[in-house]
Amino acid sequence: MAYVITDNCVACGTCMPVCPTESISEGDIYKINPDTCIDCGSCAEVCPSEAIIPGE
Ligand code: SF4
Repeated sequence: MAYVITDNCVACGTCMPVCPTESISEGDIYKINPDTCIDCGSCAEVCPSEAIIPGE
């Protein structure tokens, strides 16, 4: 299951460089590509607003 970015995202960009599979894309809020996310959790650990959660 891919991680997802919630509305808590403040678009700071902290998560993007830590993703080993370059699954995170920029936007008003950032998005994770569920097809390439390997569920490592690296992004969730660095997010300052706790906006990244495991998907269901
Ligand atoms: Fe990338 Fe890992 Fe976050 Fe998935 S869980 S988007 S692979 S950093």
